Amino acid sequence: MNGQNRSQATPPTCAECRARLPMYVDGGLSKPDSLQVFLHVRECSACARDLARHEQLIAALQSLPRREPPPEFDARILASIPYDTYRVMAGLRGPRVPVLLAESALPAWMRSPKTRLAGVLVAAAAVAGRAVGWPPEVAGVLIAIGLLPEFLLRLQAVGRRLVLGLRQAGRGA
Ligand SMILES: [Zn+2]
Repeated sequence: MNGQNRSQATPPTCAECRARLPMYVDGGLSKPDSLQVFLHVRECSACARDLARHEQLIAALQSLPRREPPPEFDARILASIPYDTYRVMAGLRGPRVPVLLAESALPAWMRSPKTRLAGVLVAAAAVAGRAVGWPPEVAGVLIAIGLLPEFLLRLQAVGRRLVLGLRQAGRGA
């Protein structure tokens, strides 16, 4: 129901009043309009309840704590990406080398530090053996076999550096 309003010619209906409530709460109404709403809700319990709800909502929104993303936010997002997906992405981004130059082209046992050390020791023993009169073919084969893993790994590394270096030079030009 509308209150008796002496000062305003056309008091707002309930619908008009409710349509103005958001602006009223925000303080965005003109003074006469604001006064009309004020007078209306004083006498209309339905619109007063609506106004109270608006004010509660605004107050609740304003009381929400302001949240900043934690410092490790980016890292956590990256960590949440499944590894397979990440590997595909890294493959697309990272420098790629020919398959033969990738370390994985050699069997894991050959790449293991133990094999490489054993090979170097065999080669060193063969060098020493040669000095104490081992036949040159035997010493030579042992040296070749012993140094093969190390040699292949280093050859690959040199190849990778060459390929990547050439690629960068090509990009720079
Ligand atoms: Zn009303």
